[in-house]
Amino acid sequence: MPRLPRHDILFEPVQIGPKTLRNRFYQVPHCTGFGVEKPWTQAAFRGMKAEGGWAAVCTEYCSISAESDESPYVSARLWDDEDARALRLMTEEAHRHGALAGVELWHGGLYAETRESRLPPLAPSQLSSDFDGITVPRVMTPADIRRVQQEWVTAAGRACDAGFDIVYVYGSHTYLPSQFLSPVYNRRTDAYGGSFENRARFWLEAIELVREAVGDRCAIAVRIAADTLEGSGVELAEGLEFIRRADAMVDLWDVTIGALAGWQRLDAGPSRFFEQGYQLEWSGQARQATEKPIVVVGRFTDPDRMAEIVRGGTVDLIGAARPSISDPFLPRKIEEGRYDEVRECIGCNACYSRSIWGRHLGCTQNATAGEEHRRGWHPERFERARNAGQTALVVGAGPAGMECAIVLAKRGLELVHVVDAGDDIGGCLEWVTRLPGLGEWGRLIDYRRVQMARLPNLQFVPGVRLDADGVRDYGADIAIVATGARWNADGMNGITRAPIPGAGEGLAHVLTPEQVMVEGLRPPGARACVIDYEGYFTGAGIAEVLRAEGREVELLTCFDLVAHYCDQTLEGVRLRRRLHDLGIAMHRGATATAIDPEGVHAADEFGRPFRIACDGVVVVAQRSSDDALHRALLDDPDALAAAGVEGLHAIGDCVAPRLIADAIFDGHRLGREIDSPDPSRPLPYLRERPLV
Ligand code: ADP
Ligand code: SF4
Repeated sequence: MPRLPRHDILFEPVQIGPKTLRNRFYQVPHCTGFGVEKPWTQAAFRGMKAEGGWAAVCTEYCSISAESDESPYVSARLWDDEDARALRLMTEEAHRHGALAGVELWHGGLYAETRESRLPPLAPSQLSSDFDGITVPRVMTPADIRRVQQEWVTAAGRACDAGFDIVYVYGSHTYLPSQFLSPVYNRRTDAYGGSFENRARFWLEAIELVREAVGDRCAIAVRIAADTLEGSGVELAEGLEFIRRADAMVDLWDVTIGALAGWQRLDAGPSRFFEQGYQLEWSGQARQATEKPIVVVGRFTDPDRMAEIVRGGTVDLIGAARPSISDPFLPRKIEEGRYDEVRECIGCNACYSRSIWGRHLGCTQNATAGEEHRRGWHPERFERARNAGQTALVVGAGPAGMECAIVLAKRGLELVHVVDAGDDIGGCLEWVTRLPGLGEWGRLIDYRRVQMARLPNLQFVPGVRLDADGVRDYGADIAIVATGARWNADGMNGITRAPIPGAGEGLAHVLTPEQVMVEGLRPPGARACVIDYEGYFTGAGIAEVLRAEGREVELLTCFDLVAHYCDQTLEGVRLRRRLHDLGIAMHRGATATAIDPEGVHAADEFGRPFRIACDGVVVVAQRSSDDALHRALLDDPDALAAAGVEGLHAIGDCVAPRLIADAIFDGHRLGREIDSPDPSRPLPYLRERPLV
């Protein structure tokens, strides 16, 4: 189907100062964990988006000096010419595919914990970091101010030399320029503090100096929070006023919301709490202050919504971080009317957790994100397998099984069957997506359903539970087991390294998450307790389900924070707030010592006993692999050989329970390497390291 005419507006070119964007799709700066430490990974990752049709691709935050060192988090850097050489790989890749390249020049000020450089952080005033009370900055003198502004100019010059087309004077997310602008962070009484004019001075001067220095070599972009929200000091009126004052010097406004330490409302809002484009309430106001091009983000994947906000004049460019990770080819697919092929971001923020804390970005929807260079994976291209004449049976249509089958079919295997005991594809996603707030994760299934339907050599066989004989008799050359994992009924876990006395199979008053969500069982009575030793979405989700049905619910976790892993996905604070608002009592840092029909015996972090009176318990202790089928097949290699099964592999949770993103990755990996000498063993990937 051709593109709908109402989306034509998205493919108009846009002028930003001396440069022209080929369309309105703009990959805003976002973290990856690549920086200048992995220059080839950086180049291939951004270059893939350029190939996918984005008009501009930007780096992550890019430090301008050693005082702006936010390690252990990984930023890009332009401290010297070597850094510029590293980033030149990226600009070349972007240009090769017709995109502009942008660099987000950054000074963290107070937030640069300088753990690598060991220099004192700089800030307008001496207030400690709200992340870490040990980090107390040095107050910037007028000489420091001039020096930092000059460092911005020097870095901008290097950026131009490295081939960048767009240079940022990045100030949002309450980094140094916003710290000056905010009366909360800026307590100065000199020409750089006090009145709005004075607080705006540092940033305005920096923009002016960069503008003068780069001339027409690059477009100048400024990233600003329309409102820093949550008491961070720069409210909408001042945000807009700053835009007015700087407007003549700026070619592109990249408008965000929120503060670095503001976890309630922020740009990378998870789908659990935020709808597409929710930021527009604030960022959508920037037009009042400027006629220059504006880019905003909003996890936009719906072309109608994109066209509507452009047509309405609110913004000129559709900015994206996550939708561009989840589908680097989003613009091309819309341009060519391939709407149902878009791999829509699910808003889970696994990418964020991996790029910030894991140092290498990954994505739940797009297994190839971050693997373009080191594994040579292209999200849209699949090499014909050397063993394409073979057939494959995949047992289990969960995330790992679906993904593996699709990759195998795209690689041209003669025939791929995915067999599942259930009625539909999805595996654990069937019930996970029914947990409160996680409906959008269903896009993982939606995308794969469309893909599977398009592949004539791929067939889904529902309602069949296979045992070892069934697999051997199936007639496939390759058998792949993707049977998933189950929550332990006896409460066995790695925290106490023991089962929970009183838990076990067949008890009406002690249930697992699957019993609640799949079998529809409920703990008896009006009072329930959820024991959570995992700390991600399941325990909190089950607690919400039970509470919504009118029970009194208490949640006990061994961690200091409820659902602590959700802090890495930017869901934690809101989630805890929701549990609190729902009236769910929370016990932190505690373990369950026994369960009986009257309740839970527990111990606090010092071992002091306490009791939770309740009528039933849901134990979210740990998942164990459902590997019985794989082991039965492994145990009889002769029978396997006699049946003509040449390859046997296991993927996903049935090997080791893991994040959905990693189960999908595992399935994808096997599909990509099905013709390697030993497909069960991952091939080594390219590493980037200093040469000695
Ligand atoms: P993963 O996350 O590793 O993909 P899931 O637990 O989501 O795993 O999915 C496993 C799927 O395998 C489920 O849909 C389940 O119904 C299916 N399954 C498990 N054992 C068998 C079996 N013996 N035969 C067919 N399907 C099975
Ligand atoms: Fe979107 Fe999740 Fe992928 Fe991030 S990891 S881009 S939030 S689907």
